[in-house]
Amino acid sequence: MKTFKTGGIHPPESKFTENTPVELMPVPKELAISLNQHLGKPAKPVVKAGSEVKKGELIGEADGFISANVHASTSGKVKSVKPHPHPGGHYAMTVFITPDGQDEWAEGLNTDPVDWHGFSKEDIIGKIKNAGIVGMGGAGFPTNVKLAPPPDKKIDTIILNGAECEPFLTADHRLMLESPEEIVEGLNIITSLFGGEARAYIGIESNKKDAIETLTSHASSKGIEVVSLKTKYPQGAEKQLINAITGRTIEPGELPFDKGCLVQNIATAVAVYEAVCKNKPLVDRVVTVSGLEIGKPKNIRALVGTSFRDISLFCGNLKESTNQIISGGPMMGKAVYTLDVPIIKTTSGMLFINNVGIEKARERTCIRCGKCVDVCPQGLAPWLLANVAQLREFDEIQLLGLANCTECGSCTYVCPSKRELVHWIKYAKALVNNRQKRKSA
Ligand code: SF4
Ligand code: SF4
Repeated sequence: MKTFKTGGIHPPESKFTENTPVELMPVPKELAISLNQHLGKPAKPVVKAGSEVKKGELIGEADGFISANVHASTSGKVKSVKPHPHPGGHYAMTVFITPDGQDEWAEGLNTDPVDWHGFSKEDIIGKIKNAGIVGMGGAGFPTNVKLAPPPDKKIDTIILNGAECEPFLTADHRLMLESPEEIVEGLNIITSLFGGEARAYIGIESNKKDAIETLTSHASSKGIEVVSLKTKYPQGAEKQLINAITGRTIEPGELPFDKGCLVQNIATAVAVYEAVCKNKPLVDRVVTVSGLEIGKPKNIRALVGTSFRDISLFCGNLKESTNQIISGGPMMGKAVYTLDVPIIKTTSGMLFINNVGIEKARERTCIRCGKCVDVCPQGLAPWLLANVAQLREFDEIQLLGLANCTECGSCTYVCPSKRELVHWIKYAKALVNNRQKRKSA
């Protein structure tokens, strides 16, 4: 079975919802649609309080090259446009919509599917851009930009990421079982942009045997290879996935296109298919709602802008003992401090947990056991990065490969001294970035 060469861990999988089909969540009473759902500049609002909108209508326009359009997730009236808590932990400009209950699409959107084979490359990328498609695996990079690498970078390998290596999360797993045709069609559309020689793969961890079988039966006749990957975290990280499937190594400072590769997430492939063939903007997504503190763990399809509060109520409500809510998975997700936070295009899951009975993380002295070094998939020395971050030696820490840390959390997970290694690394990254911004300003 294929896997990446360096490091990795195998935390308990806790995939409680893997056999739970995706349930459609009804339109909530209010939507809070963030204009900052992607990497790059937030979108510029093009509606104001009192504007009437139809489902799929543009409410935020991409502002610059690395940015993405944002659309109304349902029909209704704009109540306000104001800053609001964001799942990333900050405030972001947000369009509040009071739904009219009709959920009526704007004209010409979400049509019956059409055959895409006659579309030019420019048509396809234009439709993806208009629809506001971004990487739905977490990074949120605008897909139209990713699909147009510099002309001197020849892409010969397209990989769909179906690893879903984070514990608890099963949204991609369910999509692979329930929407295999759309996934394969989305991958075919993406591959068509790179000429006939590009090879297409779908990488899936071996703990999803049913998804491997389903996609193999749909994809093999289309020249797509479904690759069974060892269940190992972080198998779904871009560099590790490329290494596992092709054997190529993305060196520090390189991007996947430097090694002829392009990786897209499973949900993104479905969104690409829907944008190109149905003219459907990205206004909803599948989210895993899990953890021992939620009444009914589920996979749901929810509108972008639905609050964590409404979703928790739809899933049987929280138990009183809940004391932590995480947007994303337990390894790379972020704790949120209010249930008013809305889901965005990159929200793959939300976890409701309590840490009663879990040993409180109290940092102790490093015992030089080397476990953090053994598991680091990027070949770094996490103990040293954390030490240097604590000493605020920011010039030195850059020489130690700070930028190559993918914040996977594997080092923190294994440390017997409970050192908050990834916390210190993120702290150093934030301060180094701020310093660089100040310098360039
Ligand atoms: S968080 Fe960074 S330093 Fe720690 S294991 Fe992951 S890549 Fe390595
Ligand atoms: S795992 Fe923890 S104790 Fe062991 S070397 Fe790394 S930082 Fe030190």
